[in-house]
Amino acid sequence: SYQPTDKSTILAGRRAHFGGNLSLTYSDPVMLVRGWKHHLFDEWGRPYLDAYNNVPHVGHAHPRIQAVAADQLRRMNSNTRYLHPAQTSFADKVLSKMPDHLEVCFFVNSGTEANELALRLARAHTGAKGMVTPDHGYHGNTTGVIDVSAYKFNANGGVGPSDWVELVEVADDYRGSYRRDDPNRAQKFADLVDPAIERLQASGHGLAGFIAETFPSVGGQIIPPKGYLPAVYDKIRAAGGICIADEVQTGLGRLGEYYFGFEHQGASPDIVVLGKPIGNGHPLGVLVTTRAIAESFAQGPEFFSTFGGSTLSCRVGTEVLKIVEDEGLQENARLRGTDLITGLKDLKTRHSAIGDVRGMGLFLGVELINADGTEATDICAYVKNRMRDHRILIGSEGPKDNILKIRPPLTIDAEGVAMIIESLDHILTELDAA
Ligand code: PMP
Repeated sequence: SYQPTDKSTILAGRRAHFGGNLSLTYSDPVMLVRGWKHHLFDEWGRPYLDAYNNVPHVGHAHPRIQAVAADQLRRMNSNTRYLHPAQTSFADKVLSKMPDHLEVCFFVNSGTEANELALRLARAHTGAKGMVTPDHGYHGNTTGVIDVSAYKFNANGGVGPSDWVELVEVADDYRGSYRRDDPNRAQKFADLVDPAIERLQASGHGLAGFIAETFPSVGGQIIPPKGYLPAVYDKIRAAGGICIADEVQTGLGRLGEYYFGFEHQGASPDIVVLGKPIGNGHPLGVLVTTRAIAESFAQGPEFFSTFGGSTLSCRVGTEVLKIVEDEGLQENARLRGTDLITGLKDLKTRHSAIGDVRGMGLFLGVELINADGTEATDICAYVKNRMRDHRILIGSEGPKDNILKIRPPLTIDAEGVAMIIESLDHILTELDAA
């Protein structure tokens, strides 16, 4: 039977049998053995506020997810080569959230796989290979999508850039080339795509498309200026390419005001990629596209994924989307997100280490800076670890790892929000004194 054991035994076991580039959060790692809604509990039963994890979208250990998974495992579990109503129900549910022109679903097992498939679809439809993508992006861990993930290929020891990928500056209007005081910044960032397309065309790779997280996360919790994505998409389409929106982090109501990030932008993608939260912990990825693109792909060999679209996965995914509706979680994300942003902006007026507060709903970033305005990497690491001492789990992002990332399950309540703001205030006050 499963018995929690001491942390040092687990750490030694990891060192003995796992790869060295599997990273651990916190200088003194946490071991978590139970969860409930936006709470986690360690091996001593001590509670933590989960203000970081987006996979438990509708909350840890949700009873409806437990029930539906147990029910399906008791009946049977198989793949898309046999008919089952769970598969079409899941497709109907996903498509009910999408714009009308997106009509076809592919089910896979992760965000990585869905992005990998997106590249195949773009190539099948255009006959070209080249991709344009913003710098510092992340789309997954396989050979194909690493090549469009500058966050990994440009990292220390990374594989470096590929000749079929053109990077453009990420549309960061706090630190990038065009700032918030420039009313034309969205267009100016979008214009950077023009020379990238030209280079791909000149290289012989041609243009298959553009892939981006609608709101870049590992790049630093960035909300591109409104109008950026539609302007980019227009250019990509005019050059014959496909526009892929990676909504793995931003989709399914997290943004409060919007169900998807592309809605905020007023953009109309050709392919939308969903992952992490859609299974609430069960491995699940979904790609949604147009009939025309799906038909180009269908000219090739059979597409099959053993577990993608399994009866179990489809039932879990459908239940997650229903729970978001039934429990009003998108509205909760809007309300609690507004409280968080208000509280964080108030902290910014009192603590000089906060350079910027940005985000939407429960997708938030707090950029920490030094006295001279440069990225405060050390302060960020300190604050993240101190927050853990206060039993609050948050993350850090950005090319210089100086942006606190707050991205809790959508169940977070007013008490949780107050705890985040008060603890952050306390820690930043300690820093001011030091
Ligand atoms: N896209 C984005 C934006 C992500 O954040 C991630 C995971 N962090 C992925 C894709 C890959 O998803 P997975 O790890 O589930 O394969």
